[in-house]
Amino acid sequence: MLDAHAHISFKKFNRDRDEVLERCRRAGVGVVDCAVTRATLERSLELSSSHDFVHSTAGVHPYKVARLERRELEALLDCIERSVEQLVALGEAGLDYHLDAESAEEQREVFKAVASLAREYSMPLVVHARGAEEEALHVLLELEVERALFHCYGGSLETAMRIVESGYVISLATNLCFSEHHRELARALPLESLLLETDSPYLSPFKGRRNEPVFVLKSAEELAGIRGIPKREVVRVTTRNARRFYGI
Ligand SMILES: [Zn+2]
Repeated sequence: MLDAHAHISFKKFNRDRDEVLERCRRAGVGVVDCAVTRATLERSLELSSSHDFVHSTAGVHPYKVARLERRELEALLDCIERSVEQLVALGEAGLDYHLDAESAEEQREVFKAVASLAREYSMPLVVHARGAEEEALHVLLELEVERALFHCYGGSLETAMRIVESGYVISLATNLCFSEHHRELARALPLESLLLETDSPYLSPFKGRRNEPVFVLKSAEELAGIRGIPKREVVRVTTRNARRFYGI
């Protein structure tokens, strides 16, 4: 199986990253690691070059946009562009009006910059959208981004259906294990457009425990229960969808 989005390059894994990766290897769980700073990008590239089941993406998280100075932002974008050949996708990038509504204008600008890079290099784009799913979809359509994944999706079912009808895909995170809204989405969305992710270290399905990529198997189990189909079928289809999206 593949965890379609996680942050194992984050500091939260510094203490026991090898053990976490070893658990992935033993369980047959691949990881798409998402870097959002220059330091995590460097670490992520080390991980993906030394582990054949780890893949890297890199972007600018919308929450960071207002917290980085202009030249830091530009340096990060440069760094991403220089690493583009070692990445399986660009992002996460997008719009988050829950975490930070004040920087909306800057967020739009940076999102468009990353989306344009994705277009320029014909790469898939991982989108982070919260409180702005519909707007993010408009940006993608306007910029004619070919492949996009709405990661950790939590918006409305109506918008989700429009995303899917536009040919983009949606990834549900491990909050599927405890959120009624996410279970509702999992029940209604076409399996052909669904991916599963943990967004580790966040959104653990186990209270008080840090999330990690192998827990994506817990989501597969939940999704199987919700849809009334075998877990192996969920694993097969969501992994195929993820591989197809990232081209891995
Ligand atoms: Zn993330």
